[in-house]
Amino acid sequence: MSLIIVAVPEPRMCVTFTWNGKPVPVTVPPTFYPEQQINRQVEDLLAGILRPAGFRVVQAVLPKKLLAVHSGLGTYGRNNLCYVPGMGSFHRLVALCSDLPCPEDDWQEPKVMARCEKCVACLRHCPTGAITSERFLVRAERCLTFHNEKLSDVAFPVWIDPSWHNCLVGCFHCQTICPENRDFLDRVAEGPEFSSEETALLLEEALHDRLPPAILNKLEQFDMMEMLEFLPRNLSVLLTCDSDLS
Ligand code: SF4
Ligand code: SF4
Repeated sequence: MSLIIVAVPEPRMCVTFTWNGKPVPVTVPPTFYPEQQINRQVEDLLAGILRPAGFRVVQAVLPKKLLAVHSGLGTYGRNNLCYVPGMGSFHRLVALCSDLPCPEDDWQEPKVMARCEKCVACLRHCPTGAITSERFLVRAERCLTFHNEKLSDVAFPVWIDPSWHNCLVGCFHCQTICPENRDFLDRVAEGPEFSSEETALLLEEALHDRLPPAILNKLEQFDMMEMLEFLPRNLSVLLTCDSDLS
């Protein structure tokens, strides 16, 4: 049996809302979309190679980042993200298992990216203090990503300055400042655009199952349906603060 971990290059996605008559571009970082579509593509691609040889392959629910760093595919950054050569942190990891025999493996101790030894850019740029010099593990309870995947009736902690929010979901500060990502920052996929009326409906109705088909189609097309649970909460704070969103 073999465990297979694949890294697929993934750009950030730019979703455009309309607010006060102006377009407001908002980022969705890599890995936050469109999960199923890419996972299926990777599974189909590998099945096309392995099936003719008599082996099966299926997607597996496994800790993908851990697999990537233990296999040597990637290394950890100081911000605890997985970095893959030629992709930086702009990628999606897909885990699969197969009955393909694996006589030798490359399982190894996880490594920290060499560049991190002399760099503290992400530590300095993280607005919440989630990255510290005292320990390697990011303080998850301080990370914005931990706080913006909650339902709309959960208030953000008072210590979070609204201007720190920078993404529709997740957070991009430590990725945009990272020199390892310099070559990938202009990789942007155009996401859906929402008119003033649609933006207003998303702010008010997203949780109430009353969105018109036109909006639902756009969300489905970009694999954003799962974001509906926390979209109104995050979008309202983004639209009412002054942070740079694009
Ligand atoms: S994702 Fe944002 S909050 Fe979390 S460690 Fe990075 S910069 Fe800090
Ligand atoms: S910003 Fe610097 S320290 Fe942080 S992950 Fe990137 S290279 Fe490492």
